[in-house]
Amino acid sequence: MSEPTNFFEQAPDAPEIAARFPDLHPPFNKTVALTEANRCLYCFDAPCTAACPTHIDVPRFIKKIASGNMDGSAKTILDANILGASCARACPVAVLCEGACVMHRYNRQPIAIARLQRFAMDSLYESGALLPFSSGADTGKSVALIGGGPASLACAAELRRRGIRAEIFDAQPLPGGLNTYGIAEYKLPLAESLREIDMLAQLGVQFHFDVTVDAKMLGELEASHDAVFLGLGLGAIHKLGIVGESLAGVTNALDYIADYKSGKITSAPAHVAVIGAGNTAIDAANAAARLGASEVHIVYRRGPEQMSAFAYEYENSKLEGVRFLWHTQPVSINGNGIVESLRLAKLDDSLLPKPEEDFDIPVDLVILAIGQSTHTEFLADDNIKLDHGRILIDRATGQTSNPKYFSGGDCTNSGREVVDAVADGKRAGVGIAAWLEEQHANA
Ligand code: SF4
Repeated sequence: MSEPTNFFEQAPDAPEIAARFPDLHPPFNKTVALTEANRCLYCFDAPCTAACPTHIDVPRFIKKIASGNMDGSAKTILDANILGASCARACPVAVLCEGACVMHRYNRQPIAIARLQRFAMDSLYESGALLPFSSGADTGKSVALIGGGPASLACAAELRRRGIRAEIFDAQPLPGGLNTYGIAEYKLPLAESLREIDMLAQLGVQFHFDVTVDAKMLGELEASHDAVFLGLGLGAIHKLGIVGESLAGVTNALDYIADYKSGKITSAPAHVAVIGAGNTAIDAANAAARLGASEVHIVYRRGPEQMSAFAYEYENSKLEGVRFLWHTQPVSINGNGIVESLRLAKLDDSLLPKPEEDFDIPVDLVILAIGQSTHTEFLADDNIKLDHGRILIDRATGQTSNPKYFSGGDCTNSGREVVDAVADGKRAGVGIAAWLEEQHANA
């Protein structure tokens, strides 16, 4: 079994970043948490639980907070969602549990479910308690999990609880995937993601880092394990295909977010343009503003109604000082070896450029955030069925067209929330265990 890990201590010491990225929603203290917990109506048919992709028993964990049973509350959360701490910070609750709260019907504020969830999880950490369940008796079976993000972590936890060995292979030097490297620091700090994985590692999940799994290695892992879970996430951010994209000062949103979270960059230049208007674009733009840029523009070819970012993210970004250039698209990135300006075109209602209205804005940094490609090209198509690069799975079990392979998360749904990846991973863990048992029974 693997040695105990301490990823939390490997988090980079970046006081500059900590100071610039305080919590968007500061934690509740005990008094506020108890008051909020006592406001809950503990609905019998809890719409919040139904709206949570991992179906956490929300009234139950909140009631336990109200009665002072913090460990019991955390156990209720973790039973349904092993990444309950990061989901408490990263979930877009307005469109999930809190959006479904019955308080809306009475024109009252919804129960602050996520902040109560965080309170319960923080209390567990502070008490120094161990994970409130252990790994199952060894079955002698093993599963290789490719990718160390939320889907693989959730799948690994389910496998370990059932006594199945879980070995995670990750291309990054630290585990957690997007949880560690890709979510804005003021929502989910890198160190908090690692703290949560330290707790999960108590179940005996084994980790291999800096490993890029290619077709050859995948074949070896398939041969040496009883099943394989593909938690590949998504691949590179798309290119614009315009002049100047290779100039110094052009980057992509995922690299930018990972670099500031890991302390590689601690400041932003004066003029920044982010291309795209999804949630990742907003995270990158807000980061540039907090890192000291005096002017941050988001450039988007459609209007605010069509942007894929959540409305509350848009509102928050405006508060951070980000400006939006709607119905606008980049024509070229200009500079002498390094970015100096961005030529933009206004678009008409048919998304066609109006050349007579081209204009330039000064930029020192261009951040691309126009969607990601898939990262499944190393999978043999006749081995695992794909649809435009997306892995096709049975949604109930996570099983792919090849019975030995299971999958979940962004590589199967083209990019959704952390909590969706956790739900997928959990389902696949249960699905793998059931399939292995069936194989054993039929042997
Ligand atoms: S995991 Fe997310 S969606 Fe589910 S109850 Fe917690 S905050 Fe809400």
